[in-house]
Amino acid sequence: MRRNRRVKILATLGPSSSEQDIIENLWRAGADVFRINMSHTDHDRLAMLVNRIRSVEEKVGRPIGILADLQGPKLRVGTFADGPVMLENGATFVLDNDKAPGNAERVYLPHPEILKALEPTHRLLLDDGKIQLRVTEASATRAVTEVIVGGKLSDRKGVSVPDSEIATSAMTEKDHRDLIAALEQNVDWVALSFVQRPDDIAEVRKITRGRAGVLAKIEKPQAVGRLDEIIELSDAIMVARGDLGVEMPLEQVPGLQKQITRAARRAGKPVVIATQMLESMISAPVPTRAEVSDVATAVFEGADAVMLSAESAAGSFPIEAVSTMDKIAQQVEQDRNYLQIIHAQRTDPEATGADAISAAARQIAETLKLAGVICYTTSGATGLRASRERPSTPLIVLSPVLATARRLALAWGLHCVVSEDAANEDDMVDRACHIAHQEGFAKPGQRIIVTAGVPFGTPGTTNMLRIAFVGSDGRSAV
Ligand code: PGA
Ligand code: MN
Repeated sequence: MRRNRRVKILATLGPSSSEQDIIENLWRAGADVFRINMSHTDHDRLAMLVNRIRSVEEKVGRPIGILADLQGPKLRVGTFADGPVMLENGATFVLDNDKAPGNAERVYLPHPEILKALEPTHRLLLDDGKIQLRVTEASATRAVTEVIVGGKLSDRKGVSVPDSEIATSAMTEKDHRDLIAALEQNVDWVALSFVQRPDDIAEVRKITRGRAGVLAKIEKPQAVGRLDEIIELSDAIMVARGDLGVEMPLEQVPGLQKQITRAARRAGKPVVIATQMLESMISAPVPTRAEVSDVATAVFEGADAVMLSAESAAGSFPIEAVSTMDKIAQQVEQDRNYLQIIHAQRTDPEATGADAISAAARQIAETLKLAGVICYTTSGATGLRASRERPSTPLIVLSPVLATARRLALAWGLHCVVSEDAANEDDMVDRACHIAHQEGFAKPGQRIIVTAGVPFGTPGTTNMLRIAFVGSDGRSAV
């Protein structure tokens, strides 16, 4: 089973998509990686979702990536007694330190440090800035506010306080616990929210120690300011447009999206474009024209993955949202301008064997119109360098390590197959031909290019490439 597109789809699981058959259908519709949002998931539920994804993986026979998204120092309101409340413009609304469920007059704010920092005239932006409150009276235990822009407010919506200075550390205690639980579940990626400095990433890496890839969510101006250093320490990047558009002027988000995407592509780190991509599909089976265009822009920009949040987690049309994304991506990638646009950004090879070989493999494959570039990679590093080239030729990554295959499911264009290391060079070519044929990339009579590090078993030694013929039996022919 192969996808007919290079960009990957990251789908968030939630109340609309927790059953195993729905997870399977999301995968069949096009989801390559599943995101579990730790803001809304306890450890039992995490284990249950991971089990279900792994069962689907076994059933469909393809590696699937799992990303656990840590909440980070995100400020949120508490819960409401009787479901969402409507805040009317001009009304008074109180945020306090009382744990009791809220109503249309008040809600619990589980962050004493914000209550302390708030002063009259400060703004509170709720639910990605959809609701705006202004403080009229403040004490250490409650803030009385006037509703400037009202709307529907539901449980645990985000709060941002652009006018107040608050001391927050990179990882909360909850994040620590969630990270340990996620690593115990062998997730492939962990995402860190509200990254501000490279040290935030270093702190997570000390705990993950390579057991999961570390993805930095760029959603704070401080992170934009130190982007290159953060990218260098991270394994992947997310343009987290939801909070980014609250923390920074909304009209700056499109330019920042391009800047972050380009910086990540240059570094060869997978970059995910996230939030509100098909927002209207939470409640409608078809997207708006503007949303289609937004997904298309991310694909034209050469992003590694496009993400669905509430559309797949809590909406009424999770499967339709994934298949809509899949259709848009396929169409864009067939567009006559697509290759020229993604290659408008130069990503020259660095002075390493892996880069030189990846660049040469791409050039040879495109010149000879080969059926595929088959790349042996143990750690996945060479696979990412091959992906960074954005070749028009299909890329197949062979790794003996299941965790590598799963992790690379996030990266542009990589079709990952678990395969043990080859015994010798003939076996290597034979195995590559067989898999390229079996996975539906190469037909008998077509040629492929194989890259590897020989002798096998020494990571970081990609040093050879070879053109091979796929024989009539799908094996290599000399
Ligand atoms: P979130 O991150 O959904 O966890 O807030 C994405 C974003 O902020 O865009
Ligand atoms: Mn966010």
